Amino acid sequence: MLINISTIIFAAAIALFLWSCYRRFRLLLLGRPESRFNNIGKRIEGVLYYAFGQRCTVSHGYRFGWNHLVLFWSFMLLLIANIEFLLEGLFPDSISFSLLPPGMYHPLAFLIEIASALALLAVSIAVIRRLAFPPWYIEARSMDAFIILGLIALLMLAFFGLHAGEIAQGTEEAASFMPVSNFVASAFFSKVPAGSLNGYIDAFWWLHAIVLLGFLNYLPYSKHMHILTGIPNVYLRSLTKVNTQPREEFKKGNEFGVGRIDQFTWKNLTDSYSCTECGRCTDNCPATNTGKVLDPRLIILNMKVNLLVNGPGIIRNEETVIPLIGSGKEGSVAEQALWDCTTCGACMEVCPVFIEHVVEIVQMRRNLVEMKAKVPEELIALFENIEQRSNPWGIAPGDRAKWAADLDVKLFEPGKTEYLFYVGCFGSFDARSKKVSQAISKILNDSGISWGLLGKEELCCGDSMRRLGNEFVFDSMTQENIRLFNEKGIKKIITQCPHCYNTFKNDYRQYGMELEVVHHTDLINDMIKSGKLKLDDAKDFGNLVFHDSCYLGRYNGIYEAPRNVIASITGQAPIEMERHKDRSFCCGAGGGRMWMEEATGKLINIERVEEAMKKDPKTICVCCPYCMTMFEDGIKGIKADDKVQVLDLAEIVSAALK
Ligand code: SF4
Ligand code: SF4
Repeated sequence: MLINISTIIFAAAIALFLWSCYRRFRLLLLGRPESRFNNIGKRIEGVLYYAFGQRCTVSHGYRFGWNHLVLFWSFMLLLIANIEFLLEGLFPDSISFSLLPPGMYHPLAFLIEIASALALLAVSIAVIRRLAFPPWYIEARSMDAFIILGLIALLMLAFFGLHAGEIAQGTEEAASFMPVSNFVASAFFSKVPAGSLNGYIDAFWWLHAIVLLGFLNYLPYSKHMHILTGIPNVYLRSLTKVNTQPREEFKKGNEFGVGRIDQFTWKNLTDSYSCTECGRCTDNCPATNTGKVLDPRLIILNMKVNLLVNGPGIIRNEETVIPLIGSGKEGSVAEQALWDCTTCGACMEVCPVFIEHVVEIVQMRRNLVEMKAKVPEELIALFENIEQRSNPWGIAPGDRAKWAADLDVKLFEPGKTEYLFYVGCFGSFDARSKKVSQAISKILNDSGISWGLLGKEELCCGDSMRRLGNEFVFDSMTQENIRLFNEKGIKKIITQCPHCYNTFKNDYRQYGMELEVVHHTDLINDMIKSGKLKLDDAKDFGNLVFHDSCYLGRYNGIYEAPRNVIASITGQAPIEMERHKDRSFCCGAGGGRMWMEEATGKLINIERVEEAMKKDPKTICVCCPYCMTMFEDGIKGIKADDKVQVLDLAEIVSAALK
């Protein structure tokens, strides 16, 4: 009778679990198509390294990440034991590890015993942490979190109870390989009469069964759904750095960007199911850290909520219940949160399951810009200026090369010149950045390489348009630039702005334009190494602090070149701020934020400047015109402009030239 009941209960619970999974996973198929199945070998390698190796979980100083690693691995081992338990419930007496030969069963029993003990320990630590030192975000102490931790703990206790009963009864053949169960047996069952042991064993078996089946059926509806999708999401990750957004197809009748949940791709939707709610993205987000509306973790979680609420209706061709984007609480994702993002990429860098926040944020911006014409006031003039005069201020294009009027600078000559020095809008028009353009020209002339400018023919690269979601204008600007580059036979470009660098290098590739793009930091580093630049003896810039630009470092992995250049000029490595290299804190200007007001919270540049000032600098070195502006403004903001200077790396090198 017991056997029949267990078979029926197990079969029903497993069927219900599969049905819940089907209902959840069919919603993912609502997403637009996207290809994520190439290069299987590299994907598997990534799963081994990042998911099974828990690489991101234990990095970046997250001490409790080690606890997650223990829980993850215990869980993996217990998966085998729990599958056996489910099969045993379905086919009583036919399937059991105890039917294996002792040489296999005993080590397996030992392994499962240790994994269970470790899981119990890790769960206890997680509960204590949530009660005593909770992460700052409210959901860390949610009922959902405690239910899952409680279920795991109960599962382990039932496991030890069951095996301790069998040991006391003398029916557990691997007893000597089960130290914890042995301890429980002698502590709790030594005085239990032999006739009552069967009752205890049955009770623990059923407790284990009910908790396991309950856990299984709770999973698809809980925050721990990432247990099912996290590893697949690592497998499906982008194999290259996520340093751009997908191209839009401008066909009549198309909807642009993402304004409804099913306009994301199925991979974006899988991201939303995979969030572990660890909060790392939010911990590192400059917008959240300075009190803005944006919380990248919530963007992802709210995408999931929207999918779960609207998805079933979308399948039935019904109207959606909650808009995806809305101001205040009208939609799942607050409009202001989307505009708060600096696209710095800090969130994507630390996410253990490779969620692509920026891609998703920019696609929602596109919908606001292209479908709803809902943009912050300040952007209207910017869009017009860039569209009409190809620069953010609407200055006459004829003024582009005025900064070079008194210098020995030539125009790019097709077939003769090797490198185009693409100056960019800031370098051409901004008074402070023009000095950097002049410093770069001096360095290029000294190096003896063949280079030239486009002068008044130069156009904006389109970075701000793309990150702000004005994809239509970006698309036409890109095609115009490509036409110009092809016409002039331009193949090699030197940039001074990391945003131009990233755009030419990564965005233009989507248009089939493969350019050899080099940022001046890399070029100068190479020229110093090869002896093309002759430098004076060690120069003194006082305490020199270096700031990593997001689009140079995190987006394109250029960390060492500027540090090497500084070391070869000053004789020592730059002083590092607490947040540097891949953990660097944004200056606040990326993602088009350069052109917008920061109305909420603390200014991001003030936060960063204050961090730099802790190192008592005489010089702050930057490699980006946006960073230059943000730092200079920030330093004025805290009234420290008499104590510290901001220099571009090129200015430091130019001052050191022989
Ligand atoms: S890109 Fe930067 S600003 Fe935007 S959500 Fe991620 S961490 Fe925050
Ligand atoms: S998006 Fe990634 S980093 Fe952010 S909470 Fe989710 S899993 Fe953690």
